[in-house]
Amino acid sequence: MAEIIVEHATKSFGGKRAIDDVSLTVSDGEFLVLLGPSGCGKTTLLRAIAGLGLVDSGRISIDGRDVTYLPPGDRKISMVFQSYAIFPHMSVRNNIGFGLRMTKAPKELIDERVGEAAELLHIEELLDRKPSAMSGGQRQRVAVARALAMKAEVLLMDEPLSNLDALLRLEMRAELKRLLSEVNATTMYVTHDQIEALSMGDRIAVMKDGVLQQVERPSVVYENPANEFVGGFIGNPPMNFLDGVVGCVDGRVSVALAGQPMPVGSASAALDRFDGQAIRLGMRAENMEALHAPASDALRVRVAVVEPLGSQNLLTVTLGSDGTTGQPLKISTHPTFTASVGQELWIRFPSDQIRWIDPQTGTVLDS
Ligand code: ATP
Repeated sequence: MAEIIVEHATKSFGGKRAIDDVSLTVSDGEFLVLLGPSGCGKTTLLRAIAGLGLVDSGRISIDGRDVTYLPPGDRKISMVFQSYAIFPHMSVRNNIGFGLRMTKAPKELIDERVGEAAELLHIEELLDRKPSAMSGGQRQRVAVARALAMKAEVLLMDEPLSNLDALLRLEMRAELKRLLSEVNATTMYVTHDQIEALSMGDRIAVMKDGVLQQVERPSVVYENPANEFVGGFIGNPPMNFLDGVVGCVDGRVSVALAGQPMPVGSASAALDRFDGQAIRLGMRAENMEALHAPASDALRVRVAVVEPLGSQNLLTVTLGSDGTTGQPLKISTHPTFTASVGQELWIRFPSDQIRWIDPQTGTVLDS
């Protein structure tokens, strides 16, 4: 059971908290992605789990053992770094076997493990080459092979694809996902790339300013973000946010968005306590319906930008009381939906897709 448990971990640098009271459990065999913007504390947390930097307070256990103060070598983990940290003038074979040689493993075992790892990464033919004469993608494979050769039950990866160009990154993403599902190690994978997180993780832990915001399956993080930060960080385009005011009349709730009243259906219970107050609406671009003609449940907008993207058209529209200026909103439509800049359209917000947000705290309200 190579479960990782982090309890109330805190670490500061020069009085500033890099990770702040982080508690997190990664189950045996799980692939957990740690996602967040640059500087949010992802690497600090990963290094604390690896033993490369100790926490100021809190507890870390791996496989049921308290490892909080153990050196990296005693934690039964393997790590892949952003920089790969492979030795350029040492052969690929020796690079992959490096960790095992450090543990004084017998030569036969090292040869066997190096062969296995090279086969998994499809780099058998490179074993006698030097990384200094290899491409970024090949070096990256060597770094992963070295980590896998250790057969550690816990694999910690810090932005392993970030040095690759976009196409190679796409290829390696799928390859790494296949590979990691085969080796079945408990994996923590750090990235600031939300597409990588959505496509690879069993669960995603989203971090901001050293604080965990949400730890959930990718589909949940995408569809039901815990707060405005998560909705705005995940998704391309990010979630739309619109400000409005709640009005309850005769038991019926409506929200005025840029002066246009929008009746709210059954998902309105959480809104009652905001009667007369500001509210924020969160909505994904693909969840709205654009219409060419007015409808009683649709709001009038004006098209500002049209971006044909092949499989969809991305429209930027503005929602305002006079229909000319106002809050911008991105809507994804079918590629055959016609729209031109300056044109008036009407958009419908399906009530089950609306996420209502408390503008004071940024928290998404329970529906
Ligand atoms: P990135 O994606 O850019 O690598 P990150 O999310 O991994 O960022 P960390 O590297 O963990 O973020 O850094 C978190 C905060 O701690 C940042 O403000 C960073 O400047 C600070 N920090 C990290 N390591 C040190 C250090 N050794 N000394 C001083 N400050 C540090």
